[in-house]
Amino acid sequence: MSEQQPTPVSVLGLGAMGRAIADAIHRGGHHPTTVWNRTAGRAESLVAKGLTLAPTATAAVEASPVIVVCLLDDASVRATLTPLTGSLAGRLVVNVTTMTPKQARETAAWAAEHGIEYLDGAIMAIPEMIGLPVASLLYSGSAAAFDTHRELLELLGTARYFGTDAGRASLYDLALLGSMYAMFAGVAHGAAMVASEGVPAAEFVAMAGPWISAMTTGLPGHAEHFDSGDYAAEVQSLDFNKAAVDTIAEASRDQGVGTDVIAAVQTLIDRQVTAGHGKESFARIFESIRRPVGAS
Ligand code: NDP
Repeated sequence: MSEQQPTPVSVLGLGAMGRAIADAIHRGGHHPTTVWNRTAGRAESLVAKGLTLAPTATAAVEASPVIVVCLLDDASVRATLTPLTGSLAGRLVVNVTTMTPKQARETAAWAAEHGIEYLDGAIMAIPEMIGLPVASLLYSGSAAAFDTHRELLELLGTARYFGTDAGRASLYDLALLGSMYAMFAGVAHGAAMVASEGVPAAEFVAMAGPWISAMTTGLPGHAEHFDSGDYAAEVQSLDFNKAAVDTIAEASRDQGVGTDVIAAVQTLIDRQVTAGHGKESFARIFESIRRPVGAS
């Protein structure tokens, strides 16, 4: 099912992301597009384009059947939505604020308790990408809301639905972001190593980018190990990787740079080697992460 007429939409939160979202929704014809922000002065450019600034959060909610929430974090969502509970009843909340799966599930439970339809969203994009297909937005929660408002959601970027468990979109979001941050930290470590001898980071990343891209072709092989639990090494063993990573750590110390990033990798490897898995694949570090020390 899809919308017959573009639904009026209200957007709570006019940070960099909220502004981009409100703008895209307005350009998509969801008029009136009503906006609200805790601190005044963030709506001027949107009002100039024809969006409506609500004087209060309650007025913003009461202006539309669909409320998009784009605030800083879980605490700001609670602080903003709790006083609006009565006004939100019978409306749809699409919450694209970054939060943990647990927080998303708690928000969904709160919404269900108060007769509020709830769709949780996670944004895999920066504000400049909003409205382009390259922006990926992940959703979970109300299937009916996702189906009914698919056209609205597609105005923000490519929309994917991950099921009725409201925490699922956040789970994927944070897993992807975790991969990204670890990768960036690795590049920062490499850049610091070469910077110790005056090599500009620009020169380094020109090599690191293609190198990392080439290495990602190995990811499906890693996934096979992760999924099967069979870590038989086809090429390099953990013992081999340990020698390499220990050498990187030693070189880092020799160059006078920090070993924090590479030491984390050493810890993951060492735990598996100590447990007798040195002849298995590097992918075995998955077990160090999946079952952390101290977990039952
Ligand atoms: P900003 O820091 O630019 O804006 C934060 C917004 O939250 C502002 O509207 C701010 O209002 C509001 N806010 C903060 N605390 C409170 C509170 N206690 N009560 C009411 N409102 C509050 O962040 P973004 O717009 O960039 O990000 C918004 C969400 O989008 C975040 O969850 C972020 O993780 C997510 N996101 C952002 C991306 C990005 O590249 N920017 C990428 C992917 C996701 P005020 O103006 O009054 O301070």
